[in-house]
Amino acid sequence: MNAVIKKLVAGFNDFRARYFFERQNLYRRLVSQGQKPKVAVIACADSRVDPAIVLQVEPGDIFAIRNVANLVPPFEVDEEGDVSYHGTSAALEFAVEVLGVEHIVVFGHAHCAGIQAMIDNQQQGKIAGRFIHAWTAIAAQAFHRAKTIDPNVSGEALARCCERQAVLVSLENLMSFPFIQERVDAGTLEIHGWYLDIVEGELTAYDPQRATFERLT
Ligand SMILES: [Zn+2]
Repeated sequence: MNAVIKKLVAGFNDFRARYFFERQNLYRRLVSQGQKPKVAVIACADSRVDPAIVLQVEPGDIFAIRNVANLVPPFEVDEEGDVSYHGTSAALEFAVEVLGVEHIVVFGHAHCAGIQAMIDNQQQGKIAGRFIHAWTAIAAQAFHRAKTIDPNVSGEALARCCERQAVLVSLENLMSFPFIQERVDAGTLEIHGWYLDIVEGELTAYDPQRATFERLT
């Protein structure tokens, strides 16, 4: 067996022998009663920002939605006969309407390749991949906002600013979904914008009153 795959299988064996057996009752309860996570997390597919590891949660605690650059697209309804594949929207619908989560966390992070792809497109017209370009264009507004805040911002500072601004764009897009807006208005759902610095290991949250990201710990 290939060494990389072998490591995965060894990891599973270890999971089963220790983690799974220690939590067998929890797993059985989550099967018999079903999952009832109170939180949905929209995280990046990036291998360094697994929300279950970063937030040290147990099975059943979070409904994780992962995509390139932890983006929420705007609410869109297909024209009749037109079929698009709204993976993130479908996951949000399930989390909110079926599971009834009470919180949605948009979980941004530093050094995001998806946000960098969007910046490269805005600055140099560089088209990343066949699919990445169209998807990350959801965050294009973040670039314009970063440039409005500081017209001279560039390089790493621009990337960090765009990563945070993209979290805010996703928060706004969340509110374009009627089933989310309704619940937020009714006070049964809260939305949060978080940002993980993977160099310093620091977590900040967007504070709408102060319009800044503030440390959570
Ligand atoms: Zn990322």
